[in-house]
Parts: sequence; C-alpha cells; structure tokens
Amino acid sequence: MPLIPLRPLMEAAVIYGFGQGAFNVNAVAQAKAVIEVHQMFRSPAILQGADLANGFMGGRRDFVNATLEDKRTGAKNIAEAVRTYGEDSGIPIVLHLDHGRDYDSCRAAIEGGYTSVMIDGSSLPFDENVELTREVVKLAHSRGVSVEGELGVLAGMEDQVFSASSTYTNPLKAVEFFKKTGVDALAISYGTMHGASKGKNVKLRKEIAVAIRECLSHEGIFGALVSHGSSTVPRYIVDEINALGGELKNTYGISIEELKAAIPCGINKINVDTDIRLAVTRNMKELFHKYPRLQTSPSIGGIYELLEAKKDQFDPRVFLPPIMDTVMKGRIPDEDVAAIVDCVERGVREAVGILIVEFGSFGKAPLVEQVTLEEMSRRYKRGQA
Ligand SMILES: [Zn+2]
Repeated sequence: MPLIPLRPLMEAAVIYGFGQGAFNVNAVAQAKAVIEVHQMFRSPAILQGADLANGFMGGRRDFVNATLEDKRTGAKNIAEAVRTYGEDSGIPIVLHLDHGRDYDSCRAAIEGGYTSVMIDGSSLPFDENVELTREVVKLAHSRGVSVEGELGVLAGMEDQVFSASSTYTNPLKAVEFFKKTGVDALAISYGTMHGASKGKNVKLRKEIAVAIRECLSHEGIFGALVSHGSSTVPRYIVDEINALGGELKNTYGISIEELKAAIPCGINKINVDTDIRLAVTRNMKELFHKYPRLQTSPSIGGIYELLEAKKDQFDPRVFLPPIMDTVMKGRIPDEDVAAIVDCVERGVREAVGILIVEFGSFGKAPLVEQVTLEEMSRRYKRGQA
C-alpha cells in the first residue's frame, strides 16, 4: 500500500471515535518494527520522524547541528525504509514530520517523501504562527501532504524546544487558527508535557478538547486534535533499567486511564516517543548483562561503553552511533549487531503493542480511505478537504 496523507486517517479517527497513536522512529529497525506491530493488530499507523531525527538518519551523530542537507538525506532514508516495509503490509501508513521548526525543514521532509508535516510555530506570537503555518499549508496541500500546527505551549523538552511553564490552548484561538490556516490537525496544550518527567498524577484539562471540538462542529470545520508529550513512561521499565545500573530519576508519564479518557473528549492523535526509548534502552542493558562477552564486541562494544558512560539517559540515539550504517540503512553486518537490532524491534513491539490496544486503533485499518497524494491535492484544491 502506498503511504497516505494524515487527513483520511484523522477523518476515520473522528468518525469511528478511536485514538491513533503516533510513534517516533530514529532507525530503520524501529520503522520496520512499528509497521509490523500495527500490521499484527490490523491498525493504521503513523510513523513520525522528528526534525532532528531526520538529521540523525542523515548520518549526523551530533544531530543537534544537522544541516538542511542532512535532514533531506535523513528524510529520504526514513521514507525509503517506511515504503519498503509498508508496501505489502496491507495497512494504511502515514509518514509524519514531528516538530518541523521552519518552512525549510518542512520542505525538506516533503521532498524526502513525508506525507504529513507538523509546523511548530507555537513559540511565536499568534499572528506570526498563523502566517508561518499558512505558508506551509500552501506548499504541503499543493502536493497532497497534510499539515499539523501547534497552539499553546507545552512544558518540557523535545529536541531542544524548551519551555519552562505550560500555557494552555485557548479554545477560541484554536478555532480561529483552524479557520485562518487551513491545517488538518492541531497540537494543543492541555496538561501533557514532553520528556520523561511529567510530574506525579497529571490530570489533563480534557474540557479544552471538548470546547474546541464542539465549536469546530458548529462552524462546520474539520480538525483533528493532537496530544503531544503523551508517553506513559511505564513504571516497570524504569525500575528494570535502574535495576540494571541505570540512574533514571523523577520519571513520570501520563496514565493510560487519563489518555484513554481524552479520546472521547476529542483527542484523535496521540504522540508517544519516550515509552519506546525506555523499552529499547532496557533491552540493550539487559543484553549486555546477560551476555558479558558482547561488552567487548568489536562491532557493538562501543554501545556498551556509551550505556555505561551515560546512565541517566534513555535515548537510543545517544547509544547507537557505533552502528550508524545499521541505523540509517538497516544493514546488519554480523550477529552482534543483529542482537542490538533485536533489542530495538522487541522494544518497539512491547511499547507500541500495548498502546494500539489501549487507544483502540486495532482492527481499524479497513476503515481508513486509501487516498493518494495526487487525489488529496485535488481535494485540497477543490476545498473538499
Ligand atoms: Zn511534541
């Protein structure tokens, strides 16, 4: 199946009332496993590459300094992997840019083969956010690519976008934003937070989603609502990592109950990144603990050293640089690297499988209309979407 834009999947999520998880990928093996687990549950899938993840996939170990060219290369690497594994999967798959930081980053992703992009203008004043988002919508929609915007500021850290306190989304402004920009989806601030330290017992302001959803339907506007920073940070995985010598402190996610309750209130897309990172990190620590001879392996010993040097971290991007060729192209040169790839794949299956079931997207693949980018661009042009 060819990749589809975000729009038809969000339409199905609204009509049939299920939550759709969106999962970040930073390596070919991760993309493969995310697709396989959705396939297993007959769920539609959204794979996300964050702006800087594209830089990483473009071969930048120091992905924070990725250039546009790195991002373009990385976007191509991710898109190629997703197309390869998605082709015969029988499920609709969206490849979405997470937190595009500017117009050029969005363009690099679109040219690389992404079918949906997020432009994050949330740190700008409202009018400038509208202006920037509208420009991206113009470019993206002309190619049948969907767009997600963001309004309101989330606390926490995501790829260097940092904000100290949370400013909740004003529902009136959200409706105005949809009207003025034509975005397909909007990330709102309603109590979630990026990262693995969200604080204890977070309660979501679900009434914000209800208010926006209600007003949109009165205005006859289609708009999906997106919940960022929605990792659940499973306690058992954090405990396992720390039992294996990790030093993770103050790790709290959003409870699955809170997230599930947000779905009938109008949340359609739920972004999860940290859960996968944690599961993959635990698997790698476990592997080196179980098979000490791997600690000095010529091909993956470097990963062990990084795990030992950075015990308070859980982002696989920090640990995987010794096998960049595998990260970028999926090549598996020997059995030791294969063992790491297995850690990545099992981590994805565990973290993602749970959420496909909890959010209710299992079995929904046949309900999503298969719309090509060409057809989608026609619909956007005619104002039918
Ligand atoms: Zn986010």
